[in-house]
Amino acid sequence: MAFLAAFVVLVAGDFGSTFFYHVPQHLWFTLHLRTHHDRRRSYWDHAVITRDPAVLLDGLLGALPYLAAAAWLWRVSWTGALAGLALGQLHVWWRHSGDLGWRSPPALRATFGTLGIVLPEDHDGHHRNPATEFGDIFRFYDAPARALLAALSPTRRRRTAPPGVKV
Ligand SMILES: [Zn+2]
Ligand SMILES: [Zn+2]
Repeated sequence: MAFLAAFVVLVAGDFGSTFFYHVPQHLWFTLHLRTHHDRRRSYWDHAVITRDPAVLLDGLLGALPYLAAAAWLWRVSWTGALAGLALGQLHVWWRHSGDLGWRSPPALRATFGTLGIVLPEDHDGHHRNPATEFGDIFRFYDAPARALLAALSPTRRRRTAPPGVKV
């Protein structure tokens, strides 16, 4: 039961975080783009080390769906819910370790590739090109997330006004 609860925290948390936080941030807001995609500093630094309040707020908002899933599963198995949160946090650190030079061994790459789990090399793709590699932990959220982004892109917040338009 604990194993199942931990798994559901990760699957449901990543679903909520991807579709209700990450994709909307990429479409309509600036917080995540200013912090998580700030190319002036290393992403290991802004994902793991920094205590900058804006960065922490982005992390907290992205973590809320995981916390909600853990609260929901608490009565099923609180140890599993906590284990899910702990694994999620470990995965945050690990998926940003590409910045430190992490290279996944081939066996791990093959296993996680089959299971659809995001490797540091995959998440590095999201930092290189923020229009790709959605899904914090599971890669199967990438395709629907990009489809949603494409469908909603006419509503995207404009970064700069088009020529001749006053805002
Ligand atoms: Zn990242
Ligand atoms: Zn992003």
